[in-house]
Amino acid sequence: MSENKELREKLFRNKKNAFHQMNDVQLQDCNAFADGYKAFLDASKTERESVCSAVTLLENAGFSEFKFGMPLKAGDKVYIVNRGKAVIAAVIGSEPIADGVKICAAHIDVPRLDLKQNPLYESSELAFFKTHYYGGIKKYQWTAVPLALHGVIIRADGAAVTVAIGEDEGEPVFCVTDLLPHLATEQYKRPLNEGIKGEELNILVGSYPFKDDDAAGSVKLNILNILNEKYGITEEDFVSAELEAVPAHKARDVGFDRSMVGAYGHDDRVCSYAALAAILQCENPKHTAVTVLTDKEETGSDGNTGLNSAYMRYFIEDLASSFETPVRKVLSASQCLSADVNAAFDPTFPDVLESNNCSYMGKGVVLTKYTGSRGKANTSDASAELVGTVRRLLDSEGISWQTGELGRVDIGGGGTVAMFVANLNVDVIDVGVPVLSMHSPFEIVSKTDLFMTIKAFIAFFNS
Ligand code: MN
Ligand code: MN
Repeated sequence: MSENKELREKLFRNKKNAFHQMNDVQLQDCNAFADGYKAFLDASKTERESVCSAVTLLENAGFSEFKFGMPLKAGDKVYIVNRGKAVIAAVIGSEPIADGVKICAAHIDVPRLDLKQNPLYESSELAFFKTHYYGGIKKYQWTAVPLALHGVIIRADGAAVTVAIGEDEGEPVFCVTDLLPHLATEQYKRPLNEGIKGEELNILVGSYPFKDDDAAGSVKLNILNILNEKYGITEEDFVSAELEAVPAHKARDVGFDRSMVGAYGHDDRVCSYAALAAILQCENPKHTAVTVLTDKEETGSDGNTGLNSAYMRYFIEDLASSFETPVRKVLSASQCLSADVNAAFDPTFPDVLESNNCSYMGKGVVLTKYTGSRGKANTSDASAELVGTVRRLLDSEGISWQTGELGRVDIGGGGTVAMFVANLNVDVIDVGVPVLSMHSPFEIVSKTDLFMTIKAFIAFFNS
């Protein structure tokens, strides 16, 4: 029997809870990272705010803005911002850039409710904003929760007005209303994905009429007057605005043991934070280290701030030209961790995941060889060689890791930025954090998984 036990230990895959692998010092570090992460989340509710937070951290760590043609040498730290919605940071390596760069690419856009271009209307003496949701949401989850409003308005005179309201205790919040159960008999008969329809995601923003005015539209007039006094805008200025309604709550510890963090936007700010933490700690790497925090992943990566645009390739080309190296040489020798979350196994909904091939909370950073759906369509399938390299690296650094697949075959699936980077002839694998309640207003991650992911990205940059 004991011989069989040894044989089992030798031959069976055995993935333990990462907690067992951590000493007291690591647990302290883990909690410190989680605290830093929560502060980052609370200050970064949108892609624009995430870029601002990242740039502040980068500049404090000695990074300076890259200028085309600037001389570069090993150890230099540079960054660029793309239209305020994406950022790339790099630390120049000591090896020739023709040997490739190491990229960690995460996304900082998150599903939310965007305001339409002509959003404000009054109905039954209540004022509302019309919305068009961004990314994949379960619409019913976005009713009856306090919302904050973030974004930018470009006024008729060209001035940019920054908006962030609903986060501080003293500020008002906004809300999508829902039907009371007493009168929901017909609503209950709708399929869940139509429980709340897109055109029912209307945000309540006011109810007082304008003083001494009882003409129609008085409540709308009052709201516009408040907005005019606060932001100097008129109704038409909404047409050149990007305003995002997001959950107003802050990141919180979850559980009696405080082992998890609950927040809006873990997908993918948890990997963004890890990729940022890794580049901030990166000193004198062999290969040039590159952290990309991109926009538009949740809508398919199209658009000039998404990774299906050429902006990352242009940046690497600009770096390569400082060393008189063709960019195709650099990219063809490069490796990328597509840093994105995976679906953690939820015991309440066991049927959608296949238990031998899904990720679990607390078992460490997840390697996802491929995503996609319907027979691996729309994915980059990482090579066995690359998975082997990453696995060896994590084992050698004592980093807890697991593999995961996004759902049972034929159930669904999803994509990441991996294929867009892979299409540049880069070796790419998805690596990230398991998440519960993904794309909901309150997603959950494990603190130990965040810790292991940060360690994994640091190890990747140092390899
Ligand atoms: Mn994601
Ligand atoms: Mn997502």
